[in-house]
Amino acid sequence: MLRIVDIHTYYGNIQALKGVSIEVAEGEIITLIGANGAGKTTTLMSISGVVPPREGEIFFLNEPIHNQSPDRIVAMGISQAPEGRRIFPGLTVRENLDIGAFLRKDKDGIRKDLEYVFDLFPILAERRGQAGGTLSGGEQQMLAISRALMARPKLMLLDEPSLGLAPIIVERIFDIIRKINEEHGTTIFLVEQNANMALKLANRGYVMENGIITLVDSAARLAANEDVKKAYLGI
Ligand code: ATP
Repeated sequence: MLRIVDIHTYYGNIQALKGVSIEVAEGEIITLIGANGAGKTTTLMSISGVVPPREGEIFFLNEPIHNQSPDRIVAMGISQAPEGRRIFPGLTVRENLDIGAFLRKDKDGIRKDLEYVFDLFPILAERRGQAGGTLSGGEQQMLAISRALMARPKLMLLDEPSLGLAPIIVERIFDIIRKINEEHGTTIFLVEQNANMALKLANRGYVMENGIITLVDSAARLAANEDVKKAYLGI
């Protein structure tokens, strides 16, 4: 579904990605793990077209996307729930969700998807008229995931959904990510520092260090790998 081929991405003169290649098959949950500053967020930004790679190629469903605008990439079926949640704090829950569906014209589909996210996260239905900024951290993360879902993506990019949340909330959110994958068939690309949880959820994983991929394997084998255990699982 997604093929990233040897991308090099920069912020001005700073090279954040130094030849990254990743493949994601339809229906998979893959995770990209690594330390702070390794280049995980930059990888997602390269896919979504926000920080396009200077070299290399990215294909989505066999179409090149490394030269497309972010809104075109969303329209093709890729949406992102960014790190830090980045919801619109002054807009209501409902308005935040409407923004997720901004590029869609199918009113019936939008209504169904709204029901679907309210079903996944009933608390958001209760708080639909409330400003996003008044929600708790966990609820804001739920809203960010729901907003990404409202674009009806084929591929959903999730940037650190566990960040700053209590373990019980993280478990709930990860259960829902699994549900979205199983029930909706949405392919998931999960960036996480919480490698422990991410490797339990994912089918496969990539490990990133200093802008390059150092390991790729099934999630089960990565979780059993001694180097991964020492560096990322605290074992
Ligand atoms: P984190 O978990 O902290 O988000 P990460 O693995 O997602 O880390 P990136 O945010 O992709 O890492 O950062 C990769 C590198 O690019 C780092 O060296 C970082 O300092 C640098 N970087 C990221 N954003 C910018 C920016 N806007 N301008 C300049 N350098 C940046």
